[in-house]
Amino acid sequence: MREGVRKSNLHFATKGETKLVYICDNCRFLFERQGEVLQCPDCGSGHIRPAVEPEITEYNNRRQSEEQ
Ligand SMILES: [Zn+2]
Repeated sequence: MREGVRKSNLHFATKGETKLVYICDNCRFLFERQGEVLQCPDCGSGHIRPAVEPEITEYNNRRQSEEQ
């Protein structure tokens, strides 16, 4: 069962908006999204779940090292 494809998820880094970090259980890809996520942006798998604390920390560390 699939919903229609929503293409209105534009990527704005708005202050104050709550973003969640998700992880793909298939490929371990970590990414940040607002709202519900149905598919992994990396491998397309539907095995997505909200990341837990150590994974969020890892994600933030990775982002910081990429920005420098
Ligand atoms: Zn994936």
